[in-house]
Amino acid sequence: MRLGNKVALITGASRGIGEAIALAFAGEGADIIVNYASSTVEAGEVARKVKALGRDSIAVKADVSRRNEVDEMVRAGIQKFGRIDILVNNAGLTRRADFLDITEDDWDTVIDTNLKGTFNCTQAVVRHMVERKSGNIISIASIAGLGNATEKNLVYSVSKGALFTFTKKAANELGKYGIRVNGIAPGLTVTDFTHRGRTEEEFAAFIEKKKQLSMLGAVATTQDIANTALFLASSESSAITGQVIVVDTGTRDFLSHAA
Ligand code: NAP
Repeated sequence: MRLGNKVALITGASRGIGEAIALAFAGEGADIIVNYASSTVEAGEVARKVKALGRDSIAVKADVSRRNEVDEMVRAGIQKFGRIDILVNNAGLTRRADFLDITEDDWDTVIDTNLKGTFNCTQAVVRHMVERKSGNIISIASIAGLGNATEKNLVYSVSKGALFTFTKKAANELGKYGIRVNGIAPGLTVTDFTHRGRTEEEFAAFIEKKKQLSMLGAVATTQDIANTALFLASSESSAITGQVIVVDTGTRDFLSHAA
């Protein structure tokens, strides 16, 4: 088992990439704290699937942008499992708008969830990891953070770009405590996130366009992202910190076609 008896907190694990990571980690021996914002039924179902794999799990509701809720979630996780070995900062969202239409609420919601949420969870969990001189942080960025990215996606791209800097700087500060900090930058990965706001027809055309831009003629799956998270969470990557691994099927032009 690559994660035998580890405890992992995965934010935004009620569906999509977070769910795939939760199940991949459980399949390799980890107990899972399933965080979610509002999808109580779905998060409970993910916890049930983890248990069906023979591991223990609790679902904990907490908005990662709110520090008091994050602190409460970490307290609940540690009360249940005694420690948290791995944190995956996966919770994220976007608000699509042209530059002149971006509202203050759009800006705050996206930055507070994707960026401040990552800081909130990391600091809250790291306080306990420091005592144990060991820990593993993985943040889900995006290839949107590498360039000008897609249309109507400025705030999201800014929030994800900042995660590259966050990863490098946190790794630099936390290495002395035996804590590794890495990230994953997915390209388009089929989930509710990419489906939302598009009709079936628009979605099919969108995927087709993405495939044409890919060196492999494909789009990534949630399992592809989970496999990379598993590698970063395991001792196979023990010499890697401060890195963000791009998992995007070789997107040729991520400056104009990021996920
Ligand atoms: P998704 O299907 O929309 O799922 C998002 C998850 O985040 C849900 O579990 C949601 O919980 C949770 N969440 C949202 N806001 C939250 C908050 N404030 N506090 C706690 N949880 C919150 O998204 P996904 O496609 O799996 O994406 C997961 C991550 O990968 C995101 O960070 C996204 O930016 C990144 N990413 C995705 C793609 C892609 O193509 N899919 C590409 C690059 C990067 P509820 O269900 O309770 O709302």
